[in-house]
Amino acid sequence: MKEIHHFIRNEFRPSSSGHTIDVIQPATGNVYARLAAGDATDVQHAYAAAADAAKGWGRTSLAARQDILQRMASLIDVRLEEFAQAEMIDAGKPIRLARSLDIPRAASNFAFFASAAAQFASEAHDMPGVAINYTLRQPLGVVGCISPWNLPLYLFTWKIAPAIAAGNAVVAKPSELTPLTASMLGDVCMEAGLPAGVLNIVHGTGPDAGEAIVRHEGVKAVSFTGSTAVGKRIAGICADQLKKSSLELGGKNPIIIFADCDYEEMLNTTIRSSFSNAGQICLCGSRIFVQRSIYDRFVADFTARTHALKVGNPALADTEVGALISEAHLQKVLSYIDLAQQEGGTIIAGGQRLTLPSPNDGGYFIAPTVITGLPQNCRTNTEEIFGPVVTIMPFDTEAEALAMANHTNYGLAAVVWTNHLARAHRLAQALHAGIVWINCWLLRDLRTPFGGVKNSGIGREGGWEAMRFFTEAKNVAINFEH
Ligand code: NAD
Repeated sequence: MKEIHHFIRNEFRPSSSGHTIDVIQPATGNVYARLAAGDATDVQHAYAAAADAAKGWGRTSLAARQDILQRMASLIDVRLEEFAQAEMIDAGKPIRLARSLDIPRAASNFAFFASAAAQFASEAHDMPGVAINYTLRQPLGVVGCISPWNLPLYLFTWKIAPAIAAGNAVVAKPSELTPLTASMLGDVCMEAGLPAGVLNIVHGTGPDAGEAIVRHEGVKAVSFTGSTAVGKRIAGICADQLKKSSLELGGKNPIIIFADCDYEEMLNTTIRSSFSNAGQICLCGSRIFVQRSIYDRFVADFTARTHALKVGNPALADTEVGALISEAHLQKVLSYIDLAQQEGGTIIAGGQRLTLPSPNDGGYFIAPTVITGLPQNCRTNTEEIFGPVVTIMPFDTEAEALAMANHTNYGLAAVVWTNHLARAHRLAQALHAGIVWINCWLLRDLRTPFGGVKNSGIGREGGWEAMRFFTEAKNVAINFEH
């Protein structure tokens, strides 16, 4: 049985209470590791290590910081296969997805912010003849980073890389459901020469370990990605302490398809944007709106392509859809499929749990599911399901599509398929979303702002947005009249 320990002051340690949590492999349902169950005492140890490291790290030269981050990127690249196998076991995701998306993007997070650290500049405001103002952007000190299970290393490093690039020390917690690649990152830190205490990883549940990070008075900012309910709770704690927070939360993303789109490209991408990672990507589309003139054709083609998806053992190179993260999450997704039927929907593909042959007979698999016949305002169409489930609805006019797309409390991402230039721009402006993709999906440039509106969160990650979040602006005015 594998033991996964905290990583504090460049040492791996068990939890101070001695308690552990069983970690389950989603594709088999078997326990494969025991995880240190952290609490406020472990967080305090991690904080003390971070506080000791923060001063020195904040003054480390940009070149040295850049070198270390770049080495971390290279070490992940060199170990891509080892990391991808770990992510596949831990998260139940297809090995080809871990190889092509999760791990390469984790490495590029470090490479990108290595270069950002060296190029991060600040403003000067001249008051002619009177004074010059310049703005310092100084590290905050110790910051907290908390991430979810769906893209474990990718989202963990998306926070950690800018935090340390900006000169902070970090207390971080990955999801207790997927701790494996985060723990491997400890080895990468040591090999890359990251000074002890700059990155500390505390494992454990949200209420015990996560909340202790958020509540710690010495932690100056919290960057959180996860559910809207937990995000709201964290926002409340941070508000009480007047602590900065960045919250990347749930979504209910619309895909709007017009008859004038490039049909084949749209179909290929919409299959991916619906079912990649078994629909467990915050950016996946879950409500598909199709212009009525191509509705029947789309429903037939999309259903056929859904049936053809290869669902199963994530270790196999040709598997396209792997397992859901847990039995509890699988039951939640199935309950939404039941609800959809009660709300008058018709299941035209999938709709049931899959029992696979050994060794995956105890795994958490659901057949990719397509539902039609639902109104846009029912619960199935307004609440986040976060699984391999999409609904398809027809529309007639652009105004109707826009109103239906915006009819939810979420606002993370939206996708529009059209070759009508003016319409694309009109919709991009009017959609309630932090990210709009026109004729594409998941096209990412790490310099761009990333985040959502409404219940999808507050704040933006990526590029200078992240570097600014992890620094405090201080204006210095120099009077040159006297
Ligand atoms: P979750 O909110 O249950 O947990 C996320 C993290 O927060 C985990 O590490 C968890 O242990 C921790 N946590 C839980 N309770 C806590 C508390 N009280 N205090 C501090 N930390 C706590 O979310 P999840 O189920 O792991 O992830 C799925 C959710 O994440 C979905 O809603 C999905 O849409 C969202 N998500 C959003 C984005 C985005 O960028 N907007 C990206 C990925 C996932």
